[in-house]
Amino acid sequence: MDIIFASANRNKLVEARAIFGPDFNILLPEDLGFTEDIPETHETIYENSVEKARFVWDLFHKPCFSDDTGLEIDALGGEPGVYSARYAGEPKSPVRNIEKVLARMEGVPADKRTARFRCVVSYIDAEGQLTTFEGTCEGHINFAPARTEAFGYDPIFIAEGYDKTLAEISIEEKNGISHRGKAMDQLVCHLSQNLKR
Ligand code: IMP
Repeated sequence: MDIIFASANRNKLVEARAIFGPDFNILLPEDLGFTEDIPETHETIYENSVEKARFVWDLFHKPCFSDDTGLEIDALGGEPGVYSARYAGEPKSPVRNIEKVLARMEGVPADKRTARFRCVVSYIDAEGQLTTFEGTCEGHINFAPARTEAFGYDPIFIAEGYDKTLAEISIEEKNGISHRGKAMDQLVCHLSQNLKR
């Protein structure tokens, strides 16, 4: 089955392909000739997720899904949240975002560094019917980044039950516990059930 992923994020694409497996051919809007930015104009992850999926469905009228994700850090009152991508301003920089988080968390002790990734995946089928799925991954923010060339906040996020950051485990292992893995697994299940009918 062909399905369009309303994203231009290569890291998300690599994870999504591993989650969906070989039965699904995931295409990006750019594969179909659309290379502009997909709008994200809202102040909640849910609304941005739905907005991205609707935008791409309106372009192609084909089954598509989106992913909107935010990192909520308790000691920062839930920040960066919906502003995760641009926390340190324009242009988007994962390295500067991490620097800003760590600077703002200076002096916060280990037991107060709790955080979670929250992800909303929106799916729109060929008829235009919307279904949403949510996944969260609880954990805490480390005191220093593990490495810098990984995806987003992965170098400073340690999932519950782990002693390594998400940047130091394999994509398969991350998908097994992550916000995105949980939300997209539900979507794959939904698609598999509907395809069998
Ligand atoms: P968005 O869902 O594209 O708006 O992504 C928000 C930002 O959150 C991204 O630019 C990344 O910096 C970060 N992000 C999203 N998913 C992950 C993840 O799985 N690990 C680490 N950072 C992530």
